Amino acid sequence: MSDAPDWHAYDRAHVWHPYSTLVDPAPVFPVVGASGTRLHLADGSELIDGMASWWSAIHGYNHPVLNEAIRGQLDSMAHVMFGGLTHEPAVELARQLIDLTPAGLDYVFFADSGSVAVEVAIKMALQYRAVRGEPERQRLLTLRGGYHGDTFGAMAVCDPVTGMHSLFSGVLPQHVFVDRPASPFHGEWQDSDLDPLRRALKTHAKDLAAVILEPIVQGAGGMYFYHPNYLVGVRQLCDEFGLLLIADEIATGFGRSGEMFGCDHAQIAPDILCLGKGLTGGYLTLAATLANHDVAQTLSSEGPGVFMHGPTFMANPLACACARASIGVLLASDWRGNIKRIENKLSAGLEPAREFAAVADVRVLGAIGVIELKDPVDMHAMPQAFVDRGVWVRPFGRLVYVMPPYVTTDAELATLTTAMLDVVANIA
Ligand SMILES: *Cc1c(COP(=O)(O)O)cnc(C)c1O
Repeated sequence: MSDAPDWHAYDRAHVWHPYSTLVDPAPVFPVVGASGTRLHLADGSELIDGMASWWSAIHGYNHPVLNEAIRGQLDSMAHVMFGGLTHEPAVELARQLIDLTPAGLDYVFFADSGSVAVEVAIKMALQYRAVRGEPERQRLLTLRGGYHGDTFGAMAVCDPVTGMHSLFSGVLPQHVFVDRPASPFHGEWQDSDLDPLRRALKTHAKDLAAVILEPIVQGAGGMYFYHPNYLVGVRQLCDEFGLLLIADEIATGFGRSGEMFGCDHAQIAPDILCLGKGLTGGYLTLAATLANHDVAQTLSSEGPGVFMHGPTFMANPLACACARASIGVLLASDWRGNIKRIENKLSAGLEPAREFAAVADVRVLGAIGVIELKDPVDMHAMPQAFVDRGVWVRPFGRLVYVMPPYVTTDAELATLTTAMLDVVANIA
């Protein structure tokens, strides 16, 4: 890369990137600006962004309304501690989230990243058991193929294989894993999909605090879309066995799967809900854990009577102001029609890949398009192949996928899907 800025070489020698090595690292591309659906690279080239910066930049980059929300907030207060103080951006964001999320989730805890929101949810569930005099109920039940974040508590409920549990087995709590449902979102529902869960609950219910899962879409654990009836069954079984249900909607929240939240496909409400990623439209790190009355009331009145968590940057005003603006932009748009438009374009555009020898499956839900390959991709060559075609697509494992900003045009979607077909067709 001859036009690379002089800091680029220093990056390769000294700076860790997500899931990367410092010895012969895969290429990273210097980016100097971003606007709308486009990333501007240091060499003057432009990429159509297919990743929305990992589910988060739902309105694209450099959005005038989000920029203005942050500028306005910056002039009054960039940050202030949330212990003993409060401010309008946090409270009005809480009001928006309570209105928007499934019924009953009326209490909001602001966290600083998705992983922390999951830690908070787990801690809520464990403290709930402890103060109700059930301290032995400290395990969680979750699905294989899940992803919930990289901190220790969250990692312990990620898929044991892709989450590399073997490296940390001595310090990770041992939770209960069941197979994910086999019925795909668009396929026939089989009641037997609930059998592994039912069996595990019969065996372990007395040790379990909660069930945690990603509703409808398993994201970083495999980009898999399962049938809404599974969620209905999970909610019923949680009620039957007296378990809390934690929905991790950090990836699925804010319309990505075609409904505002994954739970809305099944019209169920969890007891605890995690939000992040798209919450600020991809501008600033902010997450939230919402709880229902039972959970909030129990933590507030039993045992120590306080919930023992409080990040330094809790409810950062800049991030809260940005999140309010982002939700405002989303609600002012025909988001449902727009996601349907993207779904149709991705489906039509990716369909031909089904015939390719290297392809195991093609699936699309909402603004998520996935080509699953038979073998893992070459992470040195494939991102470069996409950059050469003017698009930003970052595969992982056997998955080549996009989840573009919602403002992506039909023509840009066609460019993205054409590039995906082209790159996948060229796999030897
Ligand atoms: C990304 C993600 C997380 C972790 O969020 P971070 O902000 O990266 O800590 C947790 N759960 C799900 C479902 C995610 O997609």
